[in-house]
Amino acid sequence: MSVKDIRLFGDPVLRTPATPVIDFDKELRRLVQDLTDTMMDAPGAGLAAPQIGVGLRVFTWYVDGELGHLVNPTLRLSEETQDGEEGCLSFPGIYADTRRALRVVATGQDQYGESVRIEGSELLARCIQHETDHLDGILFIDRLDRDQRKLAMKAIRDAEWAGAPAPTVKVSPHPTFGRGM
Ligand code: ZN
Repeated sequence: MSVKDIRLFGDPVLRTPATPVIDFDKELRRLVQDLTDTMMDAPGAGLAAPQIGVGLRVFTWYVDGELGHLVNPTLRLSEETQDGEEGCLSFPGIYADTRRALRVVATGQDQYGESVRIEGSELLARCIQHETDHLDGILFIDRLDRDQRKLAMKAIRDAEWAGAPAPTVKVSPHPTFGRGM
């Protein structure tokens, strides 16, 4: 069990695009395990490698009781969208209405380099889009409309963790099961 520190908004690693995984080695499997342990400990619905300071295109999820991971994801999004609250483990306690595609088909590889295809809708689709954004240095606040973004930025400025090295706010009960991503 290896729980890593989760990087918070303001850390430059969250704005740095991650690089594709080439070596499907023991190190990669350790990274998937670290992401899984850290996500489950938070607890979170998803976690991307940059959130623990690793610039590789890998993320994990835990949605509807199902645990998964994906390496080097490519997404195909439905035109139909969903609206709903979204949070992020790198923004403790901050939630905002975020529009996402309703369904996603994700292709990529597993930790052994085998090709995988994941189909998701609703929360899993939201999570996969959120985590893939992390790999491109994109954060959920970038996806908000102007008013939601203004509210979120104010909440971030007021948050106890803003500018602090470690989170001091724990996620509270919430419609997305109190879980950030
Ligand atoms: Zn996030």
